[in-house]
Amino acid sequence: RVRPSVSCVALDLPPPPPAALILLDSKAQQTELEWISSPPSGWEEISGLDENYTPIRTYQVCQVMEPNQNNWLRTNWIEKGDAQRIFVELKFTLRDCNSLPGVVGTCKETFNLYYQETESEVGRNIRESQFVKIDTIAADESFTQGDLGERKMKLNTEVRIIGPLSRRGFYLAFQDVGACIALVSVKVYYKKCWSIIENLATFPDTVTGSEFSSLVEVEGMCVSDAEEEADNSPKMHCSAEGEWLVPIGKCICKAGFQQKGDACEPCGRGFYKSSSQDLQCSRCPAHSFNDKEGSWRCDCEDGYYRAPSDTPSTACTRPPSAPQNLVYNINQTTVTLEWNPPADTGGRNDVTYRVVCRRCSWDPEECVQCGSNVAYSPQQSGLVDTYVTITDLLAHANYTFEVEAVNGVSDLSRTQRLFAAVSIATGQAGKTLLQNWLSPSQVSEVIKERVQQRSVQLSWQEPEQPNGVITEYEIKYYEKDQKDRIYSTVKSKSTSATVNNLKPSTAYVFQIRAFTAAGYGTYGPRLEVTTKEEATGMASTIPVSSEQNPVIIIAVVAVAGTIILVFMVFGFIIGRRHCGYSKADQEGDEELYFQFKFPGTKTYIDPETYEDPNRAVHQFAKELDASCIKIERVIGAGEFGEVCSGRLKLPGKRDVSVAIKTLKVGYTEKQRRDFLCEASIMGQFDHPNVVHLEGVVTRGKPVMIVIEYMENGSLDAFLRKHDGQFTVIQLVGMLRGIAAGMRYLSDMGYVHRDLAARNILVNSNLVCKVSDFGLSRVIDDDPEAVYTTTGGKIPVRWTAPEAIQYRKFTSSSDVWSYGIVMWEVMSYGERPYWDMSNQDVIKAIEEGYRLPAPMDCPPGLHQLMLDCWQKDRSDRPKFDQIVGILDKMIRNPSTLKTPVGTCTRPISPLLDQNTPDFTTFRSVGDWLEAIKMERYKDNFTAAGYSSLESVARMTIEDVMSLGITLVGHQKKIMSSIQTMRAQMLHLHGTGVQV
Ligand code: AMP
Repeated sequence: RVRPSVSCVALDLPPPPPAALILLDSKAQQTELEWISSPPSGWEEISGLDENYTPIRTYQVCQVMEPNQNNWLRTNWIEKGDAQRIFVELKFTLRDCNSLPGVVGTCKETFNLYYQETESEVGRNIRESQFVKIDTIAADESFTQGDLGERKMKLNTEVRIIGPLSRRGFYLAFQDVGACIALVSVKVYYKKCWSIIENLATFPDTVTGSEFSSLVEVEGMCVSDAEEEADNSPKMHCSAEGEWLVPIGKCICKAGFQQKGDACEPCGRGFYKSSSQDLQCSRCPAHSFNDKEGSWRCDCEDGYYRAPSDTPSTACTRPPSAPQNLVYNINQTTVTLEWNPPADTGGRNDVTYRVVCRRCSWDPEECVQCGSNVAYSPQQSGLVDTYVTITDLLAHANYTFEVEAVNGVSDLSRTQRLFAAVSIATGQAGKTLLQNWLSPSQVSEVIKERVQQRSVQLSWQEPEQPNGVITEYEIKYYEKDQKDRIYSTVKSKSTSATVNNLKPSTAYVFQIRAFTAAGYGTYGPRLEVTTKEEATGMASTIPVSSEQNPVIIIAVVAVAGTIILVFMVFGFIIGRRHCGYSKADQEGDEELYFQFKFPGTKTYIDPETYEDPNRAVHQFAKELDASCIKIERVIGAGEFGEVCSGRLKLPGKRDVSVAIKTLKVGYTEKQRRDFLCEASIMGQFDHPNVVHLEGVVTRGKPVMIVIEYMENGSLDAFLRKHDGQFTVIQLVGMLRGIAAGMRYLSDMGYVHRDLAARNILVNSNLVCKVSDFGLSRVIDDDPEAVYTTTGGKIPVRWTAPEAIQYRKFTSSSDVWSYGIVMWEVMSYGERPYWDMSNQDVIKAIEEGYRLPAPMDCPPGLHQLMLDCWQKDRSDRPKFDQIVGILDKMIRNPSTLKTPVGTCTRPISPLLDQNTPDFTTFRSVGDWLEAIKMERYKDNFTAAGYSSLESVARMTIEDVMSLGITLVGHQKKIMSSIQTMRAQMLHLHGTGVQV
């Protein structure tokens, strides 16, 4: 709401709290006030006694006999200090003109309050034109008899607020125009939020903002030994009422410190806290210690270590003991070792093994490292399993193998290595011939005999030095251009072989080696062969065998993969269609069919799935004849053109009021499509709480969408206009309607995405209907929508966090928005999160802050809002449940009772217009207090009105007969009685006979 820059609003406020800072208190001054009176014959300073018989200074004027009075009284200069919004509390008595004979026409019953802002004190002349009027002040109660000294019961108290003030100080002035007034006390004060510590941050004393609904954002300072949480500096908001609200961000205790109350204390000895992110100090992990306070880590005991990847919370550990039960198996020049894990892993679970191989001469002392000729399978170190095979050893040689267990801290330890060892001799020493000790030499000459599309036939010569009987040849081959070389092997007993199952037109590399009792010889040189090109059209007829050919297997997997991919892509395209249906694919067949149809429920169809938007409109909306529509007046501006009201008269039907949205001239084709899209959506709905589409005019100009007329326009503006004028039951009734409309939409699978009070329309019967339909693009037109980091525009204050963060819009995110609508409704159109920035709103929500209950909001309703604002969307209620809960409340209005004093709603300027809900009062006294008429309690009791039911039957005459003579008070009481009666009728269905 836009507020006037100088706000002067009548507030029935309690006296200033002791925390308010007093700038002026006339009662506190015992000496003369010496304010300026002009003319001097007007206001007069007079000493008197207050209602407690304490001496006070007053100003009085009573020039009721003379016409045209203009008596000014100006206070001394009041320095405003750091205040921006100032409260002025006046106590005064005022004489009833009727009680003064012969003053008709000259006697007045009001006076005017003014102020003037200046940088410093100015002269003693009062220049009327320089004063700004704050308000005309009238008495709640004037007195009719006695003299000016009669004070008790007749004292009026009025509070006015001025601000924002921009100069260093100001004067107040009182203008009398012919009343009989005694100004008993003038108090001027302002409010502050007092310094506090919240979330380990200190917030200084802060003066409240200058506007009613403004929050002053204040940065907090971390207490000692605390630091700001990353990207989350502490902030709070000082409300106009001097209360701290909405803490965002926080400080956290640094490493080595933990929170105690509002401070950070160091971790004790034997404890540590490694990061500020940790909540509490922890005891030192096993095998570590510390002996000073405030430590962020503990040191390892002797012989224990931390690996670089270990965190401060992991125990200190040590290297493992040696592997156990090492055994071996020897096959010619291949040795397999196996062992059991070590008895002690050192406290870690990252134990691996490494093998050290040494070849020794006959003298076991003379050993050398085996070097790179020896191969280890799976590898030499980093072994996870407890075995290894060592190949390519020399025949008839002596080897020693050491197997060591290692873990993450082995390399840090300087203690001796622990390992298991075996000594092995290869071959059968002394029993074979010398040449057999040597493996065969290379197979150097290889010839390609026959090259086909899928096979290659090779032949070769025996190696020059076989060094024994060659029992076998091994042909190794691989695809030349394959990135990760996968070898295949084929064995042959003779000097030729055919390698089958190759790919056509592919280059292969072949190498051959011989095998004797002494083991394999080395491979010969590489031979490159390219298979023949495939004959076209033959591919599928060639039988494919995966035998001995990895290429084939890979190819098969690749084909299968492609098929899956095709399905996935196809599925994705189908899935992308928002509403779960797709077009039949035969040419010319434009029919749509559902893939997921819910029995009994109509499903919403996204008009975007129609290629021809005209078809979509005519599928869902009736084409109207322009001659049936009479446009009467413009009622608003829509995105695409004017919104008008008018009448629709269809043949054979009664004419009805309608709203007509028009498409402005000179539109583009896209604009026309987007405009009609709303009709295509709205036309699918048929529910009493969803705005009803009458039809469209697309064949004439202007293009129009005709909708049922909603007399009271949009809900937010409507509530602001009628601030405080509805009963809780009426408000809940509106909310129930909106929830029912949303239940219908969500059942149809429609996600609204922009549910907000501004997008709800209200008709003359106060029925609320959901409106503003469109695709996500429509949100772009919402003035509340802003761009977020995830792209796209979003009305942040109304949108669920998951929708803001990753555009997850669902009926559950609509439920969140519904919770915000509930808050808007219960606070009569207050802006959610007041004037906080969008960024701060996002942050506050992320940190768990939720909007407090609006003033007079029953706790059950606020609980429902909080349920709608559950972080996890699956925890939020469904619209169906919301409707159920609201129905229950309406049936049992006692659940809607508001405990007195739960006001968290910011002060509303129309506060005293609030209609109290009579269901919250237990007695006539309670009720009178609520409407501030408790002074008549005795009058009601004396006349026998002891129950609210009896009060509800009272007439104006009854009220007057109680001795309530002031017309204002009679009116106030009568209007409250009428409301009470209406509520009784509504709640119990029990009429009150009057
Ligand atoms: P819209 O383009 O839907 O936001 O409409 C613009 C304005 O026209 C709204 O804020 C309403 O005040 C008014 N309006 C729209 N539809 C209706 C209706 N069916 N009945 C009454 N007023 C409407």
